[in-house]
Amino acid sequence: MSGEFNLIDKYFSNRQSQRKDVLLSLGDDCALVKPPENVSIAISTDTLVAGTHFLASANPAWVAHKALASNISDLAAMGATPAWVSFALTMPEPDEQWLEPFCQSFFELADYFGIQLIGGDTTKGPLSLTLTVQGFVPEERALKRDGAEIGDWIFVTGELGDSKAGLEVILDPAKRSQPSAVELEKRHYISTPRVLVGQALLGVASAAIDISDGLISDLGHILKRSNVGASIDVSLLPVSDTLRAYLQDSTSAQKYALSSGEEYELCFTVPDQNKGMVESALAHCGAKVTCIGQVRPQGVLELHQQGNPIYWQLAGYDHFKV
Ligand code: ADP
Ligand code: MG
Repeated sequence: MSGEFNLIDKYFSNRQSQRKDVLLSLGDDCALVKPPENVSIAISTDTLVAGTHFLASANPAWVAHKALASNISDLAAMGATPAWVSFALTMPEPDEQWLEPFCQSFFELADYFGIQLIGGDTTKGPLSLTLTVQGFVPEERALKRDGAEIGDWIFVTGELGDSKAGLEVILDPAKRSQPSAVELEKRHYISTPRVLVGQALLGVASAAIDISDGLISDLGHILKRSNVGASIDVSLLPVSDTLRAYLQDSTSAQKYALSSGEEYELCFTVPDQNKGMVESALAHCGAKVTCIGQVRPQGVLELHQQGNPIYWQLAGYDHFKV
């Protein structure tokens, strides 16, 4: 891209203090980093494409938050501690009015989690953002998807469903007049990755995942990888007052909680003998945690309401259909 170097210098270089484990940051052919002893490096990449994961007209500060938070959330789901991020940016033209608020928000969140931008690429084309985050997790202890066993308890952090409602508001301006609509729109873009929760669950949880495609779908990944099933009591699903006000119907709120994607809350399983530890292990994390069900034998994902079976057809999560 013409002016690429100016752009990189102006917006991406020297925006953060150096981490000690970054030996060489932006400006050379590669970054050089030095991980600590006895850790595995957790690495995850996510792409956000304008028109699919955000609207090109969306607030650039919110887009930056969503892009980085969704990546950090993958580290959180493994119990990893964030360390470094690389950023590949494709945009049609150098757009400083977009980049300024984008970078402000990006570096604010990066600094909050102590994560340093160590490199990237800048190219011309349709607006898209690809981030690769890296973090550390003690060797052999990462929270994976394949560790759930029959009898384990199923927990989620935070409240579920707001992101789906926010997406609806973004796509249908007529909905902006509904109660809490503007708050939900912001909630779609702004989430707090559950890094502290993930770290605190090391040695406590048997499996974990972050909710990016909807609880049913993401819990489904744990069940499949672990060869088990599950039973969920929908009346236990944590939903916000904001969502209840918007939908004015608690059954709809429960359905939203089951299918809402891009929540970036954690869903995790805990063996019965560790159940009593969950509250104290997470006490310092500032996150609400709710037990919503239990792992069952393979092949069953049963929904019930205080013991009464229910059968709902739930739509999948589709990002933006534009
Ligand atoms: P190369 O031609 O070797 O790929 P570039 O000209 O693409 O180098 O980038 C120059 C330097 O700026 C590299 O260190 C690269 O990591 C960094 N960089 C380029 N674009 C970005 C970006 N969007 N975010 C962070 N660092 C970037
Ligand atoms: Mg390059």
